[in-house]
Amino acid sequence: MPKKDYYDVLGVDRNASQDDIKTAFRKLARKYHPDMNRDDPSAEEKFKGINEAYEVLSDPDKRSQYDRFGHAAQGSAWGPGGSETSDFGGFGPFGSFDSILDVFFGEGFGGSRAARTGPERGRDIRFDLEMTLEEAAAGLEREIEIRRLETCDACNGTGAKPGTSPRTCPVCGGTGRISETRSTVFGVGTVSTPCSKCFGKGTVITDPCGTCHGRGREPKTRKIKVTIPPGVDSGNRLKIEGEGEAGVRGGRPGDVYVFISVKPHSVFKRRGNDLVCEQPISIYQATLGDEIEVPSIDGKTSLRIPEGTQPGASFRLRGKGMPDVRGRGRGDQYVRVKVIIPTRLSEKEKELFMELVKMQGEGRSGSKHEPKKFFDKIKDAWERRA
Ligand SMILES: [Zn+2]
Ligand SMILES: [Zn+2]
Repeated sequence: MPKKDYYDVLGVDRNASQDDIKTAFRKLARKYHPDMNRDDPSAEEKFKGINEAYEVLSDPDKRSQYDRFGHAAQGSAWGPGGSETSDFGGFGPFGSFDSILDVFFGEGFGGSRAARTGPERGRDIRFDLEMTLEEAAAGLEREIEIRRLETCDACNGTGAKPGTSPRTCPVCGGTGRISETRSTVFGVGTVSTPCSKCFGKGTVITDPCGTCHGRGREPKTRKIKVTIPPGVDSGNRLKIEGEGEAGVRGGRPGDVYVFISVKPHSVFKRRGNDLVCEQPISIYQATLGDEIEVPSIDGKTSLRIPEGTQPGASFRLRGKGMPDVRGRGRGDQYVRVKVIIPTRLSEKEKELFMELVKMQGEGRSGSKHEPKKFFDKIKDAWERRA
């Protein structure tokens, strides 16, 4: 399904000011906030879409990237071919969903995420994976080690000592919230705040679980296998669904995001799926042509230098670039030749060059001397030096 235009998602035009964008976002975020739409499962998707659009459009840099390149600017589409548990995170940078909730609630909405008594999704985990350009070209499988909070086995996540159970909070009567009248930017009304006794949970633990000390989750170190497809580039993210921290009160687990960075290469520079390198050749090869061996990302390859090659000329090796991460073929390699001018010539070599000068005198661009005079002058200089 093609992604919707971010401006359409927020219902603003392309010239909207940052304030317009913020206003539109707040209005929509209120409308589709999952807490307000518990009976509408599509609200969460909409809310995510709104967050994603706001994440990009509220940041001047990301917005200008998006204006120029559209959704491709994020480098986020993993596309078909990946396994079903892995795709590049569709919504903004890691953690954005949570941070936007904080902004949203932090501005006078009255309440906070801590006040939720319902299921709460586990946090996402970021893992940074650095690789060489060769590894990025070939794709790789790697076992990564992450530390995450998992549901405590001893108490099954309740936090209460096995055999006991949490009790209803005596202060809030189990609702987790205390209501009061307050004035906010959205008007005067009844606002509920989290209960300070149970911190919004609605229950209190009198006899905490000895394993997790009442927290319901405990940190564990796990190894998980990630498969990086060929063609990834720095800035790509691989999402491994459900491998993040455990949820709370039956909430879904978070995801792991593998942030990829590809180390700079000593020979190749990458431009999209193309690779560019520089190859020194001699003046003789440039003039007469040659067949040379050049490096490529998967070994050496040969390149024909035609007669009369100019310095800076670029040759394309089709299909020798990086594989496309979405499986659409491969880029090309461009070899830019650098013609090396000899700096130390023997007397014999100099004489041969002089012969060429005499033959090709017309070709000396901007010379103040006739070919014959030029020759004599230089010859004089050599003789005096000798
Ligand atoms: Zn426990
Ligand atoms: Zn309470």
